[in-house]
Amino acid sequence: MRVNKIEFEAFRNIDSEVIELNDGINVIYGENAQGKTNVLEGIYLFARGKSFRAFKDKELVKFDKSTAYVKMDFSNKNDSVLLGAEISKSLPKKFYRNKIKLNKTSEIIGEFRAVLFCPSHLGIIKDAPAVRRKFLDVAISQLRPVYIKMMTRYNQVLEERNAILKMMPEERQNNLELMDIYSEELASLCADIADIRNEYIKKLDYWVKIFFDEMTNGREAPKITYESNANENDFESRELLKNRYLSLLKNNKDRELRYGATLFGIHKDDLKIEINGRDSRLYSSQGQQRSLSLAMKMAEGEISREQKGEYPVFLFDDVLSELDDSRKKYILSNIKGRQVIITACDKSVFENSEGCTFINIKDGKRIFGEEEITKEAEN
Ligand code: ATP
Ligand code: MG
Repeated sequence: MRVNKIEFEAFRNIDSEVIELNDGINVIYGENAQGKTNVLEGIYLFARGKSFRAFKDKELVKFDKSTAYVKMDFSNKNDSVLLGAEISKSLPKKFYRNKIKLNKTSEIIGEFRAVLFCPSHLGIIKDAPAVRRKFLDVAISQLRPVYIKMMTRYNQVLEERNAILKMMPEERQNNLELMDIYSEELASLCADIADIRNEYIKKLDYWVKIFFDEMTNGREAPKITYESNANENDFESRELLKNRYLSLLKNNKDRELRYGATLFGIHKDDLKIEINGRDSRLYSSQGQQRSLSLAMKMAEGEISREQKGEYPVFLFDDVLSELDDSRKKYILSNIKGRQVIITACDKSVFENSEGCTFINIKDGKRIFGEEEITKEAEN
């Protein structure tokens, strides 16, 4: 996949700008607080249907404006697609595909695939389980739209079931039947979601081993496994898997009532990440964590390529400056054959890499310096 062009209007600090991108490495550079990450945020908006850093959509609209517009022209192996987003401070955001309005935000997900790597991802190994679940959810959603539906429904049912668990005893008495219905539906959704996650994690483990091995010259062996409420043999059939979750939900009601929350289900999942047999959440060094998180992102890209027949676009927000020279070199020599869009304050790291396009951003605008003007003139 390849982003050909992105246009912004009243988006963050970008008043009005068109940025064309090339194959290979595109380096968006400039000083701090100039709008580099804003450009990536705009691109990634089409991969996830929302910003990767704003709490509310309205934060994306330029301070003094009421509506932001982002248009992106990208190509996949079959055709070129024009995606559009209209983000208002007061209305829900709208997405367009080839100028036709989509009914739901979720319909945009999976259309344009991107792997985002930003400094906060470097902590994924030691962060809370929710962060690792989010990694899985974001990666899987881009490949399987049905997964988004399952997750949305799961969260709704979970909330309803928790509400009953929190009720006063008399009120709850009238809702016991409903509680059983929710348990049944949750167990069923757990079976479907756990099965998809399990399959994804096996692929992740396969690719992370390969990348990590290359990065560390095979000195250390990582292993990623799925940590869920189910046992390994439950994954042999959907029936076994569903029954496992159903019996946990049925047999632990007293405990759940004490906590006022559902204690079993895929909302408790985690990734177990080991290096040489030791839990990396507890024992890994800073360097190992960096290599692992990098390997996970590279793996995410490979799984996406395997399933969809072409690489997603890679968006690296400022991560290279956080990595040491050997990992930097590793990334730069291993991202051939795909489009990568990188933000950086210092472009000198890239000056020896082949086929880089440099884009200078200042105060929300693309600036054409001497060398860019020379290049444009040559073309
Ligand atoms: P760094 O190198 O520090 O990461 P950056 O170039 O990536 O910087 P961005 O995060 O892209 O910077 O942009 C930050 C700038 O955008 C800040 O100056 C901020 O005040 C401005 N900004 C953020 N949201 C809005 C908004 N809604 N309207 C106008 N300006 C905004
Ligand atoms: Mg930034």
